[in-house]
Amino acid sequence: MEKDLWWKKGIRFECQGSGKCCVSHDGYGFVYMTKEDRIRMAKALQLTTSEFTRQYCKKTDGYFHLIDGENGECMFLKQKRCQIYEGRPTQCRTWPFWPEVMDAKTWNQDVAKFCPGVGKGHLWTAQEIQQEIDAQLASENSEP
Ligand code: SF4
Repeated sequence: MEKDLWWKKGIRFECQGSGKCCVSHDGYGFVYMTKEDRIRMAKALQLTTSEFTRQYCKKTDGYFHLIDGENGECMFLKQKRCQIYEGRPTQCRTWPFWPEVMDAKTWNQDVAKFCPGVGKGHLWTAQEIQQEIDAQLASENSEP
């Protein structure tokens, strides 16, 4: 991963609670749901997995994702707070360390300008960042 060495000294990131990453923007639309995500979120809402899936998910191109809320906002976002934070999907847990944004250009042009948490708080080591990237990749490749 030669081109990714720009983050080898780590990146500061701490969620500032803006809720911006919970609203569809540019090419980043759906909140995709792995099977584990659906099981975990269903438990958090005290539903069976199939009840949760029927009520809150839709399938597009073979992949489950949350049904969009109003104005592109996630339906679990209320007053800039995730109402299901402990059970939130992998995609939300691994933000902003998604494989597709970890090249310097995309990071600086898209992520750093968009997310107020970038550059603040905890210094994520390269190892920690790689773990998040790997978790996100695994979720993208997991069974729907
Ligand atoms: S599940 Fe929670 S963290 Fe994920 S997009 Fe929805 S409100 Fe945001």
